[in-house]
Amino acid sequence: MRNAHVRKIQSESKARIRKRRHAAGLCVECGVNKTDIRHCEACLKRKCEYYANLKAKAKELCLAHYGCQCMCPGCTVTIPEFLSVEHLEGGGIKHRKENKIGNMWLWLVRHNYPEGFAVWCFNCNLAKGFFGACPHSKETQ
Ligand SMILES: [Zn+2]
Ligand SMILES: [Zn+2]
Ligand SMILES: [Zn+2]
Repeated sequence: MRNAHVRKIQSESKARIRKRRHAAGLCVECGVNKTDIRHCEACLKRKCEYYANLKAKAKELCLAHYGCQCMCPGCTVTIPEFLSVEHLEGGGIKHRKENKIGNMWLWLVRHNYPEGFAVWCFNCNLAKGFFGACPHSKETQ
């Protein structure tokens, strides 16, 4: 209880510091470099790198959970760079928009790997969206 109270005060003053830095035309992150946006170039770059690492890590975790192979029958793609994840039922774009999802991998990790998602390679995923079904599934029929 006491600790929670202290933490709240600390986070509030942190927000105040950032506000003051921004008003002074300084980077809110380091408070040293001048910038007219919120972060200086160096801090922005560091943030981007951090986010890229986070995304890569999330993808790794998701592929370990959902399987590191395109689920399309007859497709043998297992290269992570070619793999994406989508709704089994389709409607992935709608789902992303409704939930304001920037990165699907991060979202899945945050939501503890919900069911109803599957790994597809970009080719099969695109073909599915374009033709209603991937040519792979016609081959096997
Ligand atoms: Zn900075
Ligand atoms: Zn595929
Ligand atoms: Zn396919």
